[in-house]
Amino acid sequence: MNVVICIKQIPDTTNVRIDRKTNNLVREGVPSIINADDLRALELGAKFKEEFGAKIYVITMGPPQAKEALKDAIAFGLDEAILISDRVFAGSDTLATTYVLSQSIKKIEEETGHVDLVLTGKQAADGDTGQVGPGIATRLNFALGAYIMKLDEIDLKNQVISAIRRLDRGFEKVKIKMPALLTIMSDINEPRYPDLPNLIHSIKYEPRVWNYKDIDADSKKCGFFGSPTQVVRANIPPARKGGDIVSKNDDPNIAADKLIEALKKFKNARLIETLRPLIEGDL
Ligand SMILES: Cc1cc2nc3c(=O)[nH]c(=O)nc-3n(C[C@H](O)[C@H](O)[C@H](O)COP(=O)(O)OP(=O)(O)OC[C@H]3O[C@@H](n4cnc5c(N)ncnc54)[C@H](O)[C@@H]3O)c2cc1C
Repeated sequence: MNVVICIKQIPDTTNVRIDRKTNNLVREGVPSIINADDLRALELGAKFKEEFGAKIYVITMGPPQAKEALKDAIAFGLDEAILISDRVFAGSDTLATTYVLSQSIKKIEEETGHVDLVLTGKQAADGDTGQVGPGIATRLNFALGAYIMKLDEIDLKNQVISAIRRLDRGFEKVKIKMPALLTIMSDINEPRYPDLPNLIHSIKYEPRVWNYKDIDADSKKCGFFGSPTQVVRANIPPARKGGDIVSKNDDPNIAADKLIEALKKFKNARLIETLRPLIEGDL
C-alpha cells in the first residue's frame, strides 16, 4: 500500500498581515508550523505503516524553507519526503496548486507503480478554502472522501475503506473504493510525539526536491500564469469585543434572566430553535 500525504506549512500566528499591493498574506519573518489537520493525516500515515507496512510519502509545495515541515513529518516515522519547489510555482491559486500536487503524485505513481491513497487536511488554517483535497482527487480521478472524522476499516484485499464523514447536521457512514483521496478532520486522532530514534533520523534527513520539469508540469498551468483567481481586496475583520459576562457568582435567578436576554439577541437560527422552549419559558 502506497500512501501520499500532502502537508502545508502555514504561518504560526493569529496576527495575519496582508501585502497591500498583492493582497496576499505576508509570510516573511513569521514562524511556520504544519497545518493542524495535516498533523492528523501524518498520524494516520504512521498507523498505516505500523499496521499494514504501508510506504508513506509526504509532499509539500512551497519555498525552500518548507523543507523544515517535511523533516518534522519524517519524525512521525514515515518513509520519504519531497519538496515541490520552483519559482515557476509562485503566485499559484488553488487551481494551480492542485495541478502541481497532482503532477507530483503522478510522478510518485510512476516511480512506485501505484498510489492507493492520498491524504490531505480538510482545510489549511491560512488559505482556508478546503479546495485542494477535492481538486487533487478530481485531477487524479480518485474517489473522494471529504471531511473524514473516523476510519472504521481498511480492507486491503477488496481495496475498500469504511469511514465516517462529517456532514453539516450529522454524520455519514461511507465505503470508498481505492484509489482514493481522504480529507482529514482534526478530531480523527491525536498526533503522537516523535520518539527519539525517529527524531534523530528526521534531523539528519534531507528531503528530495522536485522542480516543475521533474514533475513534467506545463509552466503555463503553474504560478501566476496558471491562476485565474484574482484577489480584488482583502480585509482583516475588526477584533471582537468581549460580550456581557454571566458570572457564576451572580444570583442564579439574575444570572438566568441575563442569559435568556443574551440568547434572545443571538442570531443563530439553529441554536434559537433548540433553545426556544427555554427562552419562551416552557422548561
Ligand atoms: C492569486 C493568488 C496568488 C497566490 N500566491 C501564493 C504564493 O505566491 N505563495 C503561496 O504560498 N500561496 C499563494 N497563494 C495561496 C495558495 O493558492 C493557497 O495557499 C493554496 O492553493 C492552498 O489553498 P488553501 O490554503 O485554501 O488550502 P486548503 O484547500 O484549505 O488546504 C487543504 C489541504 O490541502 C493540502 N495543501 C494545501 N496547500 C498545500 C501545499 N502547498 N502543499 C501540499 N499540500 C497542500 C493540505 O493537506 C491542506 O490541509 C495564492 C492564492 C491566490 C488566490
